[in-house]
Amino acid sequence: MASNKPSYLIVGAGVFGVSTAYHLITEHPDASVTIVDRDAFDAYSRVAASWDWNKAVRADYDDIVYCQLAIEAQDVFKSDPLWKPYFHETGVYWICRGEHAQYVINNYRKLGRKADISAVPIDEARKMYGGLFEDADYAGAKEVLLNKTSGWAAAGDCLRAVTRKALDLGVKYVTTEIASLQIENDGRCSGVKTAKGAVLTASHVILCTGAFTPKLLELSAVSSGRNELRAGSRIVAGGITTGMATLDEELYKKFATMPVGFQENPTDPRTGPFIGSLPPTADRELKWWGQTIFKNTREVVPGRFISAPPAEPDYAQWKVPGKLKEDIRYANRVFYGDKGAAWKMEKHRICWDAFTTSGDFIISPHSGSKGLYIATCGSFHGFKFFPVLGKYVVQMLEKSLAPELAEKWAWDRERPDPALNPEWPRAEMKDLIDPVATL
Ligand SMILES: Cc1cc2nc3c(=O)[nH]c(=O)nc-3n(C[C@H](O)[C@H](O)[C@H](O)COP(=O)(O)OP(=O)(O)OC[C@H]3O[C@@H](n4cnc5c(N)ncnc54)[C@H](O)[C@@H]3O)c2cc1C
Repeated sequence: MASNKPSYLIVGAGVFGVSTAYHLITEHPDASVTIVDRDAFDAYSRVAASWDWNKAVRADYDDIVYCQLAIEAQDVFKSDPLWKPYFHETGVYWICRGEHAQYVINNYRKLGRKADISAVPIDEARKMYGGLFEDADYAGAKEVLLNKTSGWAAAGDCLRAVTRKALDLGVKYVTTEIASLQIENDGRCSGVKTAKGAVLTASHVILCTGAFTPKLLELSAVSSGRNELRAGSRIVAGGITTGMATLDEELYKKFATMPVGFQENPTDPRTGPFIGSLPPTADRELKWWGQTIFKNTREVVPGRFISAPPAEPDYAQWKVPGKLKEDIRYANRVFYGDKGAAWKMEKHRICWDAFTTSGDFIISPHSGSKGLYIATCGSFHGFKFFPVLGKYVVQMLEKSLAPELAEKWAWDRERPDPALNPEWPRAEMKDLIDPVATL
């Protein structure tokens, strides 16, 4: 018998999807909420950008909206027993070549938020933390932003724990690949079709599919004959490399409580993204992310070229070309100079995320299909908002989102030229892959 009760099908179990499920079931304990993902939530390896060893959790933003939102999320990380075990308040050490430190300090001031935050002259900063960053590249740097209230989270462990909690509260989890949206003759979205041909239905379909979103919408546009489903220039899938080195016991002791290191790009601070070094995990693994952010533009369906993660089920995330490994060696050099030259890089991963030109999320109804909603586009900074993302997605679903947020995160809005967005994917993966030997 058909029910008039709303039902929610969330595609994607990254931070956007899981946070949405958690907030929905908390606010509406009787609601029917299902998460669908190609990977089990406790799988050994997953493609989600949210699934990672660790992620920076900071409110050090030039944009006051994200600064405020990140403070709200951090308050949950620091106080709620569900989130607290995963947050480490180690601080951040941010080598600034522009005005970032001043913007952040001003934002905290404007928000009336007290924090142990300061802009430190370089000579003084170099000596801090036992001289950990004394050999970093400070060329062109103005000062170092220190925010002792920021830190990092054990990302994968946190994602698993919150998913488990949502399931305990009544959310269902289905592990399957979604091939396309189920679009009715009147254009309404009534569910999704799995790669095996099954149809899952719901009154609300929320795509939290990260980097795969443009491809899924493209496939759905083709199968339904509705061009208005396409993402167009709204969303671009981009990849970034991470690398890890295992420290010996002695070094681990020195690095264990280090702050998260950030460098405004030494190559070109206007258009190069910031790079970073995250404190070691319990397995003594120190992590970096690189400066090359790239698209993978391919012919997804005949005549349609869009950027998408590689077609392999694991996005070929562990197959990292030499040029991208060099990217991590470079990150190591600009943080630790000669000190890090002998460290062996043991793990490399390419992590895929969905980007918008402004770096804003999309949390919005999709204007091309009733019943379809988009909540994703972390644009390389979405993890830290995990505790509160779902609250805003629920507000969007219930049409109570503050107008300025609804506008900022809209599916249809004016978007800035990506030329001056340092995080915008500029390179192409085909130019980075290792040459194949020919006989
Ligand atoms: C290298 C790197 C470092 C980062 N560092 C930080 C950081 O330090 N701090 C921070 O705040 N943010 C960071 N980010 C950004 C952050 O990780 C992302 O913005 C955020 O995790 C995106 O979440 P999501 O839920 O949109 O997507 P994801 O986490 O990618 O989840 C999408 C999910 O959808 C599923 N899915 C997609 N398509 C289908 C389909 N067709 N069928 C079934 N399932 C499907 C996928 O399996 C996946 O589980 C980083 C990102 C990268 C790449």
